[in-house]
Amino acid sequence: MATAFITGSARGIGAAIALRLAKDGFNIALNDISEAMFEDNDIIDRIRAEGVECEKFICDVSSYAEAEKTVKAIKERFGSIDVLVNNAGITRDGLLARMSEEQYDTVVAVNQKSVFNMSKFVGSIMMRQRSGRIINLASVAGVYGNAGQMNYSATKAAIIGMTKTVAKELGSRGVTCNAVAPGFIKTPMTDKLTDEQKAMMLNQIAMKRFGEVEDIAGVVSFLASKDAGYVTGQVIEISGGIMM
Ligand code: NAP
Repeated sequence: MATAFITGSARGIGAAIALRLAKDGFNIALNDISEAMFEDNDIIDRIRAEGVECEKFICDVSSYAEAEKTVKAIKERFGSIDVLVNNAGITRDGLLARMSEEQYDTVVAVNQKSVFNMSKFVGSIMMRQRSGRIINLASVAGVYGNAGQMNYSATKAAIIGMTKTVAKELGSRGVTCNAVAPGFIKTPMTDKLTDEQKAMMLNQIAMKRFGEVEDIAGVVSFLASKDAGYVTGQVIEISGGIMM
């Protein structure tokens, strides 16, 4: 049975992707930065109820050494890694004039370096397998920019460049790499926004509703499927038409 590894998957979009890929028949390797994220959380039971195997691997994805150890442990446990979803991400918003160096560096480490770490270690397994799917979580903020998110939008734009580079480097080995760029999706990450910010966003969305985590999981499921075998280096926006 094929295995999917989803980073930052204890909750939010990552958990929805993990559940959807379990329904698609993948064994699931979950990840989050702390054990605590899995307490009072039934995601592992819900995935196992789909009849697949599921384990959690605690690691800070921004750490090169931890990423290497984690990927090795997943390969040992499941035998292969067929799908990698680079989902873990954080925000530390603030206007440029007030953004600290720490705010900038933390977001770059978690959102961007993690994609280098995991793509390198999982990519080398996929190259040897001569097959694999890498799916990265970008954002509309990386395509259009967003006031108050210089750090975040920088990482999400970088992820688009990284996606196309990995697609070019690994394509001849049967490995595809694509990105999805969500707009405003209802998760703990966006719960933090003020009502005023939410109303402003809603006004810009053609479909006049915020996205659900399942809206992202469905597209990731397609990119991980056989049907998407000839799709690589692409960025699919899932935003209800925030910009066109
Ligand atoms: P979320 O609810 O905050 O979930 C992200 C998960 O990643 C959390 O469980 C978080 O744990 C974990 N995480 C954070 N730092 C980590 C690290 N260093 N190592 C391992 N895990 C870590 O976020 P989300 O809204 O589901 O977002 C998922 C992805 O979609 C992110 O890449 C985000 O940028 C992208 N995205 C989201 C939206 C949206 O509207 N929600 C829009 C565009 C793009 P902690 O809680 O402990 O930090």
